[in-house]
Amino acid sequence: MKLDHILRNVNKFRSVFDFGGREVAHWFPGHMAKGLKKMRASLRSVDCIIEVHDARIPFSGRNPVFQDTLDVRPHVLIFNKMDLADLSKKQKILKTLERNGTKNVLFTDCLKQRDENIKELVPMVMEIIERQSRFNRDENTDFCLMVIGVPNVGKSSLINSLRRTNLKKGRASRVGGEPGITKAVLTKIQVCERPIIYLLDTPGVLPPKIESVETGMKLALCGTILDHLVGEDIIADYLLYSLNRLGKFSYVEKYGLQEPTDNIQHVLKHIAVKLGKSQRVKAITGVGNITVTMPNYTAAAYHFIRSFRKGELGQVMLD
Ligand code: GDP
Repeated sequence: MKLDHILRNVNKFRSVFDFGGREVAHWFPGHMAKGLKKMRASLRSVDCIIEVHDARIPFSGRNPVFQDTLDVRPHVLIFNKMDLADLSKKQKILKTLERNGTKNVLFTDCLKQRDENIKELVPMVMEIIERQSRFNRDENTDFCLMVIGVPNVGKSSLINSLRRTNLKKGRASRVGGEPGITKAVLTKIQVCERPIIYLLDTPGVLPPKIESVETGMKLALCGTILDHLVGEDIIADYLLYSLNRLGKFSYVEKYGLQEPTDNIQHVLKHIAVKLGKSQRVKAITGVGNITVTMPNYTAAAYHFIRSFRKGELGQVMLD
């Protein structure tokens, strides 16, 4: 988009988002907290925690539970989905994190077949572990890692990516070493030879910390909270607000709009038309009931959000 076009539009967008008195209370199902107790128990045998979070929201939604209760454990923070994130302010982000005591940070793309950054993880963990004196478990010579994080940030993908990267050498790296070993038994995966490092096969799922409606909305945009609990319509509107605020106007061309707009109905109408998504609704008029064809706004909102999550609307930094 041309610069003058953008400049003409700069002042016509909302500078704040109206959340319409929404509350976050029910955005995250309570049963998730139950898993924490179990997780705490298995963490006793874990030497290093690998926390995964979405690179588009480096400061929003991380659950502080492990910082509070298990701060003795070394901790690596992975910002995954870097392919979807605008990382032009990466150094600033790293500095802010460091000021708050988080030094071991890695940005990754776990869907990439070979991600160079993933390769750095084990050496980083080894260095951290070797710097620390072992606690409680001096008799053991092998080490164990656990992946944790809020839903949908790519914990399982990270485990798979680590497998791809570190199990190339074949069965020697497999726990148990026997071919045909069942999945149920294979709860630890070896990811390093020297020293021997294992990774717990199942990630720990944490409830996100939703400190405000805006944080909740960012988490929802990134797919961390179930869409229907927040509402597709408002997520789509928040997405439009965010894209405009960040100057990411590729949606204009993609959906055949004349120019950037702050009007979500207008955008959704274009998307619905483009997708051929319409719905027939009954309307009561003075001369009786008639059926009219309307754009399917819900389907359009869903499409808009999904395109964003696939990275089709550009890379963003929501924090
Ligand atoms: P988990 O719930 O934290 O275990 O997350 P998953 O590993 O199941 O991943 C959630 C979704 O994010 C899936 O659709 C993955 O394909 C996708 N995903 C995971 N890692 C990446 C990444 O680095 N980049 C992108 N673009 N998508 C990713």
